[in-house]
Amino acid sequence: MADHDKTRRALEQRLALLSQRTSRIEAHLREPGARDSEELAVERQNDEVLEGLGDAELQEIDEIRAALTRIGDGAYGECATCGESIAEGRLEALPYTSLCIDCASQAE
Ligand SMILES: [Zn+2]
Repeated sequence: MADHDKTRRALEQRLALLSQRTSRIEAHLREPGARDSEELAVERQNDEVLEGLGDAELQEIDEIRAALTRIGDGAYGECATCGESIAEGRLEALPYTSLCIDCASQAE
């Protein structure tokens, strides 16, 4: 079994960073909006941007958690669809990916 300690550490660091950032976004979203209607509109736009950002990051958090589970299970680096090994270069670029390049391009 390959040693994924380095990958796991990198994923855990990324996870911590993302968790920090999303909790900041949530804190901002809970702030009461400005009373002035114009400011409120701008505020609302910003919130939409922040919510979109939050979604992407929450998804990445899910994927990183799943990747950490796969490392624990010894299934890391195997494609979740076809079971083939995921190319090393692809894992370096996308350490939390669960699909090989062929299945990923078919899924798109
Ligand atoms: Zn595959």
